[in-house]
Amino acid sequence: MADEKLPARSEDFSEWYNQLVLRAELADYAPVRGCMVVRPYGWALWENIQAALDRRFKATGHQNAAFPMLIPRSFIEKERRHVEGFSPELAVVTIGGGETLAEPLVLRPTSETIIGHMWSKWIQSYRDLPVLMNLWNNVVRWELRTKLFLRTLEFYWQEGHTAHATREEAERETRQMLDIYADFAVTDAAIPVIPGRKSEAEKFAGAETTYSIEAMMGDGKALQAATSHFLGQNFSRAFEIQYLDPKGQLQYCWTTSWGLSTRFIGAIIMVHGDDQGLILPPRLAPIQAVIVPIFRNDEEKAAVLAAADRLRAALAAAGIRVKLDDREGVSPGWKFNDWEMRGVPLRVELGPKDLARQSCVVARRDRPGKRGKSSVPLDGMTGAISRMLEEIQQSLYERALHFRDSRTRETPTYEELRSAVETGFALAFWCGGGECEARIKEETKATMRCIPLVQVEASGHCVVCRRPSQERALFGKAY
Ligand SMILES: [Zn+2]
Repeated sequence: MADEKLPARSEDFSEWYNQLVLRAELADYAPVRGCMVVRPYGWALWENIQAALDRRFKATGHQNAAFPMLIPRSFIEKERRHVEGFSPELAVVTIGGGETLAEPLVLRPTSETIIGHMWSKWIQSYRDLPVLMNLWNNVVRWELRTKLFLRTLEFYWQEGHTAHATREEAERETRQMLDIYADFAVTDAAIPVIPGRKSEAEKFAGAETTYSIEAMMGDGKALQAATSHFLGQNFSRAFEIQYLDPKGQLQYCWTTSWGLSTRFIGAIIMVHGDDQGLILPPRLAPIQAVIVPIFRNDEEKAAVLAAADRLRAALAAAGIRVKLDDREGVSPGWKFNDWEMRGVPLRVELGPKDLARQSCVVARRDRPGKRGKSSVPLDGMTGAISRMLEEIQQSLYERALHFRDSRTRETPTYEELRSAVETGFALAFWCGGGECEARIKEETKATMRCIPLVQVEASGHCVVCRRPSQERALFGKAY
């Protein structure tokens, strides 16, 4: 397997992605169409993503909880826009224990409704607020076109849910969580993102305002990497989530929800990967450095393996996620290819000649070939490895940012927009009208990704209807 080359990324990006996911052993196709099995290496990556987010959620006062997967169907029907948004995607359980159920149950597509139901019991007074909760779970949406990690019938995510006494506080929470996602994407995943507000047409069913972070993939297409919704009082009115304010008046709560899913793994693959396979940002990589011992006979083997294991122990003690690849029956070259496919940031080669010089060869995954190789003294290895991991983290971010910027154009005219979205993003003045947005989608297949929060102060004319406009919107073809 490791000997076969992937399809070239520049020639068939989609097939490159599919094969990479399988061959890096991140995930596999499940027997049920559209479902995925996340393999241990892929799950280890997800666990690192979880840890990086969970730390941030807890630092901002959120607590984790668990809610059931089965939800009475009537719950979904309580909130009209929610029904419209999810009905076609629902999986419904009608038989349980051999009996037809009195009320069908749905497999949660998201948990707003069941949380709303419970909150209506738990929240009584302003003293009970705010409620700041997060769930790490799986949800089911009956998608027709699926792709591993990007869109599957069942996927893993976190869904945050909060309830507040005032609109202002809930809006602040929505923006705070968007900031947290952006910080995670940039700092841990080395993925530059554009935070913004969704249009009416693109927002979440049942939300008053939806925000997202948008990232550019290696083929120039957009991926919505996380969302944060200000739900207003839509769910609190549907589920009667009310509290008594200090004056003894009954008030509806203001709620939010926000999520990031295993689709983010797809973003990591598509932003950083190359023709040799995956390239993982060191902060999230399950294995940050792999040691490959090189020897020709048993005598060399004993000395090299002993030194390699000492090095492994020293790196592990310094908090580096390290693996010694002492597999028998495969050549060092085969191992190199295998770890390149899996995107391990650093490879340490240790052979008899290196040992004699008390050094080893370190190869950077982000710089294939000779360019990324250097000889490093064994003495002081932990410091050198830590520094190189930081350099790779930084360099991956800069490369992705440069790529995105080189494929993002300000487009004053419709023709320029049309051409820009063929290879990347277009930033264009937009009047706010749904018709103009719909026409762009219809004619170019690009959707409005978001109205970026950071705007270069200017005014211009809508790229479609030429009416005066104050804001630029971001357009791109999306996953
Ligand atoms: Zn317009």
